[in-house]
Amino acid sequence: MSGTATAATQYVCLTCGYNMIGGCPDTCPFCGAGRDRIITQEECAKRFRVHATLVTKGVTRLMSQPALGYEHAAYRVETPARNFWIDCPCLFDETLDPVDVITFTHKDFMGASNLYRDRFRAQVWINEQDADHPLARSFPVDRAFSGDFSGDGLEAHHVGGHSPGFTVYMAGSVLFVCDLLYFRGERLIFNPYGPKRPTRDAGKSLAKLLETQDRAFSHVCDVHEATPFGQWHDAFARLLESF
Ligand SMILES: [Zn+2]
Repeated sequence: MSGTATAATQYVCLTCGYNMIGGCPDTCPFCGAGRDRIITQEECAKRFRVHATLVTKGVTRLMSQPALGYEHAAYRVETPARNFWIDCPCLFDETLDPVDVITFTHKDFMGASNLYRDRFRAQVWINEQDADHPLARSFPVDRAFSGDFSGDGLEAHHVGGHSPGFTVYMAGSVLFVCDLLYFRGERLIFNPYGPKRPTRDAGKSLAKLLETQDRAFSHVCDVHEATPFGQWHDAFARLLESF
C-alpha cells in the first residue's frame, strides 16, 4: 500500500486534516465532513506550507500555514544519532528536511506519515494498542511498540488515557505531551474528547514520572505550542489539585 500512495491519490479532509489513503470516501472517516471538504494532497500543497519554528536547541515545532483542519503541532527532534518527528503534519510538504523516525504520541495525528515514510525512507513507530485502531490501520507502521523505551536521545513513556496507547516523550530538556492536556487560556485542562477517568489517571502517572526525573526541563511541547517548563508545571499542579 505504501509503495503506491502518492500526493495525487491521497485525500485530505479540510475540516479535520485526516489523510485518506488510496481513495476518496463520501465522508471523512474521522470527522464526518462531506465530499466537498476533501481534496488531494497535491491540491493541499498549493494552498498550505509546513512552517518550522525553533523551540530550543535541537527541537523545532512543525505546523501548517494556514492551519489545515483542526491542525496540531508536530515536533522535530534532532539528536546526534537520529532525526525524529514526534507526530506528523497532515500536509505532505516535500520541502521539509529528511527525517529518520516518525514516532507517535497516539493514533489521531498520523497525518501524511505514509508519504513522508516513502519520501525519506523513514520508519513509523506507534504503540501497538493504537496501531490497531480503525482510523490508524491503513497507515504503514514499522514498529508497533509496547510500554516504555529509550534510545538515540529519545525516551518514550506509555501513560495511556486519551487513547489506550498514549505515549509521552522526553528529549534533552523537553517534554512532549501532545493533547493529553493543554491550555485553555491560563488554565491547563485534560483532553475532554475521550475517556475522562483514564485521561486523568494518565495525568497522575505523568506527575509521578516527573517526580522521578532529575533532569532540568526547559519546555513542554503540546498539541498547540511550547511553554516554559516552570509556567507549565505550576498550571499542571493547579490542575491536579482540582481533582
Ligand atoms: Zn475530517
